[in-house]
Amino acid sequence: METDTKAVAQKLTVRCQFCNTWNRIDATRVIAGPKCGKCAKPILLERPIALDDETFTRTINESDIPVAVDFYADWCGPCRMMAPAVDALAAHVQGKALSSIRITPPGSLPDSTSAASRRLSYS
Ligand SMILES: [Zn+2]
Repeated sequence: METDTKAVAQKLTVRCQFCNTWNRIDATRVIAGPKCGKCAKPILLERPIALDDETFTRTINESDIPVAVDFYADWCGPCRMMAPAVDALAAHVQGKALSSIRITPPGSLPDSTSAASRRLSYS
């Protein structure tokens, strides 16, 4: 892997999925398998991390590396088809970018007659 030794340390900010503690992680250490500073469980970044209303803004605002966000909904066929590609992206960009999924809550299923759902329909 190529590394630029002059680069300023880039950090990413993610919340531990086990104890909900926020962690600042050096991007160069992502491949080595970072652990939560509080509970010492692994922070898994080879798969996309799930973001919700609470974690979305902070994760994006406080990460120095790019954050790729897949806006995903369970009721969306194209979303499900893209899931393997999003998984592959996460593994591919480890340490250079953060892959995440912003999951649309089940309650927000679109009204089939709404303008928004017509815009989002695929032929
Ligand atoms: Zn933890």
